[in-house]
Amino acid sequence: MQIGKSEKYNVLKKYFGYTAFRRGQEEMIDAVLSGRDVLGVMPTGAGKSLCYQIPALLFPGVTLVVSPLISLMKDQVHALVQSGIPAAYINSSLTREQYSRALYNIGRGKYKIIYVAPERLDSRSFINACQQIPISMLAVDEAHCVSQWGQDFRPHYLEIPDFIAQLPRRPIVGAFTATATGRVKEDIKSILKLRDPFTATTGFDRPNLYFSVLRPTSKKQKLLELLAQRKEKSGIVYCATRKNVEEVCDLLNAHGFAATRYHAGLLDEERKQNQEDFTFDKKTVMVATNAFGMGIDKSNIGYVIHYNMPKDLESYYQEAGRAGRDGEKAECILLYSPRDVRLHDFLIHNAKEQSDLTPEQQADAIRKEGERLKKMTFYATSRDCLRHSILQYFGEASPQNCGNCSNCSTEFETLDITVDAQKILSCILRTGQRFGAKMICDILRGSENKKLLSFNLQNQSTYGLLKDLKETQVRDRIDYLISEGYIRATGGEYPALRVEQSAKEILYNGLELSLKVPKKKKHKITAVGGDTSNEDLFTTLRQLRTEIATAEKVPAYVIFSNATLLDMCEKKPQTKAQMLEVSGVGEAKLERYGEKFLEAIAEYEKTVL
Ligand code: ADP
Ligand code: ZN
Repeated sequence: MQIGKSEKYNVLKKYFGYTAFRRGQEEMIDAVLSGRDVLGVMPTGAGKSLCYQIPALLFPGVTLVVSPLISLMKDQVHALVQSGIPAAYINSSLTREQYSRALYNIGRGKYKIIYVAPERLDSRSFINACQQIPISMLAVDEAHCVSQWGQDFRPHYLEIPDFIAQLPRRPIVGAFTATATGRVKEDIKSILKLRDPFTATTGFDRPNLYFSVLRPTSKKQKLLELLAQRKEKSGIVYCATRKNVEEVCDLLNAHGFAATRYHAGLLDEERKQNQEDFTFDKKTVMVATNAFGMGIDKSNIGYVIHYNMPKDLESYYQEAGRAGRDGEKAECILLYSPRDVRLHDFLIHNAKEQSDLTPEQQADAIRKEGERLKKMTFYATSRDCLRHSILQYFGEASPQNCGNCSNCSTEFETLDITVDAQKILSCILRTGQRFGAKMICDILRGSENKKLLSFNLQNQSTYGLLKDLKETQVRDRIDYLISEGYIRATGGEYPALRVEQSAKEILYNGLELSLKVPKKKKHKITAVGGDTSNEDLFTTLRQLRTEIATAEKVPAYVIFSNATLLDMCEKKPQTKAQMLEVSGVGEAKLERYGEKFLEAIAEYEKTVL
């Protein structure tokens, strides 16, 4: 069977409303269309779904999609049906009756794409139904779930090969995931028995995300400011503990933000309700612990703010990466405070003491986690390109300067900090290397806090030597000395700073140190899309979208994404043909909503003339 090049573009436009493929998509689609198995490792938001949905529409038979997340499945199917593609899902949320009807429809060849939960693959009735119909392709979404080396191992994924073996003809098998280390990739290939798969890895970079790290004196104050500037968007605020979630959520509600919360301490019912409120934009801010994430498929998240620093970069990138899945500009903001580092350090030591590992295993785990925490802390205190730091951590080459992170958009100046460093080092030495960064900082700045006075530290010769610097400035210098290995912070409940041998070079041998510090900010956050001239129209179209979404009981982005609305504002179509030119408007959606949006645009044009 030969499928021409133009056909995949026709399908792309007709059903999805797009005119160009994204990086990696076309190669994958071509490989599938040529009959080859594929393995696609592409970051979240890259557009993996199209890689099997487009072939699905071009193949004569049915495409099955194995997907682990029930909520995600439902939304995907909604979106397909909205685009005029006959699709259905089979999972435990169906009643007996719905299930039988779905099987009946499958048998009659009513669907082009069928999503199925892995648990259903060994059900006799489902297998029977599948044996009756031609299956062209089997796509495995979140394919890393097949591997025990991955983070979300799902034993039912292991049944996929058995299921395939029971089909009269082996379909093309495609596996897709956003996270796969070498080991997990090997597992996917061998467990799913992929045959000489075409493999595409498009890398971890998420170009539409803006990364920034802030170090506010008051996180609460800063958070309120940040949210006030982002009222139009919806976003997640991640906190380290349930207690923090409660506090922050209360704070936001008290200040008039529509915030809700999510953590493991809530009853199932409330969690479900809160998640739904957020998904359907009834609440614009979700305050949550890291328990919130798996299974959310909200693509229009404009920002993810970390109120606390996570324990490692894997967690950070995964959580922050929930922003901007629709491919639009989105922000990942980390509110850093050294206290976060101490908390994790404490947790690492404590959790391991209580576990049933042998002492050696314990020590090993503590060391590894400590190492990861250190890398996370480097990220939070680094002056280098943040995107580069992340990609480097994941072993991917990238430019030194991305131009789209807070470090790249900040001008730095280089200061000579040799004398400051000497003062810090002697302060640590003279107080017997017993105190942590906070106390050292207080002594140097001449603070009169009670604890300091109770230790009589105000009589130290280094007391007040750095009183002209702000607390954050002293902390910056201490962090720098730690990151360069001149000071070490001991672990445990009462961490203390210790001076390393190498610091002698600074104290006695005239080694000079310099530090890059921010000069002034260049980055200014603009409204959605950057262009503000169409803001009124954008608001109008969003309202219209909300009305339609509410009436049809689907999330707003299933109707049109923000990117599509922005393109509409830009092009201001007056006819149906012009409407079809808008990115994200396919034939089915034109039929369904074209008229309404055209009217709204015409209405708007009248008012501005
Ligand atoms: P993934 O599964 O890789 O996380 P999705 O398949 O959900 O990503 O796609 C993310 C978003 O990108 C969706 O809103 C989708 O419609 C959009 N998208 C995918 N491919 C394209 C394309 N070629 N042009 C424009 N938008 C696209
Ligand atoms: Zn950068």
